[in-house]
Amino acid sequence: MKPALVPTPAAGVHLSTGGFEAVVHGLASALSTLAAPDVPRLRTPPVIARQTIEEVGYHESFPHLLGRVFARTDGGALAESDLVLLPAGCYCVYPVHAGERLHGPTEVSVEATCFRQEAHAEPGRLRSFRMREFVRLDTAERCLAWRDDRLAAARDLLAELGLETTSEVASDPFFGRGNRLLRKLQVERELKVELCAEVAPGQRQAVASGNYHTDQFGRLFAITGPDGAVAHTACLAFGYERLALALLHRHGEETGRWPDRVRKTLDLEAPR
Ligand code: AMP
Ligand code: ZN
Repeated sequence: MKPALVPTPAAGVHLSTGGFEAVVHGLASALSTLAAPDVPRLRTPPVIARQTIEEVGYHESFPHLLGRVFARTDGGALAESDLVLLPAGCYCVYPVHAGERLHGPTEVSVEATCFRQEAHAEPGRLRSFRMREFVRLDTAERCLAWRDDRLAAARDLLAELGLETTSEVASDPFFGRGNRLLRKLQVERELKVELCAEVAPGQRQAVASGNYHTDQFGRLFAITGPDGAVAHTACLAFGYERLALALLHRHGEETGRWPDRVRKTLDLEAPR
């Protein structure tokens, strides 16, 4: 079967073929080279504590994207449960370090199954998708330097895979929708930078994003550095399906005919 996403009756929800998964698998290994080999890896479930999502304010910043879970508890009436669908990988990491005094710069790699109630379902805009994230907890200066350095390395890696990306400052309100001032601040301080590529004819989308959250999560979860100062955080996120679609769009459906260099980096089988 060709590498592809197979539509289902639900818009933005797809099955993936074995060939598509081979590309995703190759991407997972290639992206791992962006972190040191000893960086711990976490795999998330598709749900997260509703409390965590409320603590970080996601339900206020992105109420339209959040997927809620309803269930019957103890045979009672249907009610909202203590879980929501996970909207991004890094929200799982901060509670792990809650109340902690870090020994030094801390980094985690997260593999996440995410859900967002997207209003449109153009190619590459899914409701259920997978994300790879690297999350850094450190000082302000080092978080920002790490994000920019890793974004540059990501851009080089994607170029090696034949994907020319553009770097764009984004304005998603991770500080809350209603707060125009903070939103402006976010753009001015370039807190969110996206790498964009064409994932289908005429469809340019962010395939990766680098975020610097200042001390927002450090404060919320009482995480400090070795000197007792509130930790700052940054993350670098990649969308697996978008990256795989961008590669298929760039090199064609026959992965056996992809350039040798790309097949080698993705550890894809040589053509027989
Ligand atoms: P964000 O947290 O919005 O910066 O998303 C991180 C990465 O996940 C993006 O750079 C995309 O590659 C990917 N992503 C975000 N939303 C979607 C979506 N609706 N469908 C597929 N991939 C997505
Ligand atoms: Zn993140």
